[in-house]
Amino acid sequence: MSDRQKQSRSQIASTSQMKKLMAAYFLEIDEAKKTGKQKVAWCTSVGPAELLHSMGFLVYYPENHGALLGATRMATDVIPLANAVGYSPDICSYLTADVGAYLKGVTPLTRAYGIQNIPKADILVYNTNQCRDVQDWFSFYAREWDVPIVGIHTHRNIREVENFHIADLVSQMKSMIPTLERVSGNRFDIDRLREVVDLSLQCTKLWRRVLECGAAKPAPLTFFDATIHMAPAVILRGKPEAIEYYKLLIAELEDRIKTKEGAVPGERHRLYWDGMPVWGKLRELSDQFYQLRTNVVASTYCNSWIFDAFDPKDPFESMARAYTELFIVRDESFKEWYMDKWIENFSIDGVIFHDAKTCPNNSNNRYSMPQRMAKRLGLPTLVLHGDLNDLRCYSEEQTRTNIEAFVEQLDQKDG
Ligand code: SF4
Repeated sequence: MSDRQKQSRSQIASTSQMKKLMAAYFLEIDEAKKTGKQKVAWCTSVGPAELLHSMGFLVYYPENHGALLGATRMATDVIPLANAVGYSPDICSYLTADVGAYLKGVTPLTRAYGIQNIPKADILVYNTNQCRDVQDWFSFYAREWDVPIVGIHTHRNIREVENFHIADLVSQMKSMIPTLERVSGNRFDIDRLREVVDLSLQCTKLWRRVLECGAAKPAPLTFFDATIHMAPAVILRGKPEAIEYYKLLIAELEDRIKTKEGAVPGERHRLYWDGMPVWGKLRELSDQFYQLRTNVVASTYCNSWIFDAFDPKDPFESMARAYTELFIVRDESFKEWYMDKWIENFSIDGVIFHDAKTCPNNSNNRYSMPQRMAKRLGLPTLVLHGDLNDLRCYSEEQTRTNIEAFVEQLDQKDG
């Protein structure tokens, strides 16, 4: 794409406000570590963040740091350091990038915000709803810093979320409270938890609305935009700032819908992306689809921060349900039902499955789902082999060629 074409792409104006929010979030945590003013809890991206906020912790999400390492292309350089101390190149490349960066003493937060180090955790809190890797990842830091680690073990590959799942998860969450009280120095307060769950509920409803804007024709945003704008839903849920931000973004997107300003002018095809983003190649992929006048308008990944179940009246039960109803927790039949619904609502004409080498948990192509989907819906599907962070597993050339051929196939289908 020429520089002139790049300049002509209309940018989402709210992005500048989001950047300010991100900076304020990281600087607040950095300051708290320097002054010892407030304790910091590390939390997995779909862990019990509301409980931690309610107990007065600042909450830090290492997966977000992993994604930053990928997006800044630092990951591929630092992963070998983690491999050298025994973390296999085949396991989660968020984990290996994050541990490698720690061992090397580098972080993308330095360039972005002048922050020298990731914040040392006062406690590490995980939920295995997404994978086992998060437990092993947090265990590295628990050993390194000799700090407490607590976790929730979620039932996985389930079709329906049953009451006995919820009862078990609620009791696991409640059993964490004495440790959280000891580390934070604060008493648990159910009313404060209700308030935080209510803030998360408002945030998630707005985030759903942002993503549903993609159903408009032409769509006012792309999957690649959404991977950037989901940051507040990930790291600021439970905080009022996220709510204010999404109101601003929705107003902008709804304006675009009214004026029919598509993120991809002359949008010809509408795709669904399943699986992780390729963080180090967002720009290249976004540019290629733009040139092909094809928009990736919906994805499984960005939907992972829609938590319809939150309910301030039942904070524990609803958190347990919200974090178990997730796509990644469910079996293939649920996943297919879920994707079919989004494919229909977003008028999708093709589906891309990203087979991320180091994340089997988010790669849904491995048990014949694309073939079943193609047969059931009569939709073309494409499997791209790559990775979320480790660009040694990604071939730029091969990916470009495969996407080009796929879009040609869509063109032919249209006749
Ligand atoms: S779900 Fe995948 S990307 Fe996320 S932490 Fe687990 S292995 Fe890593």
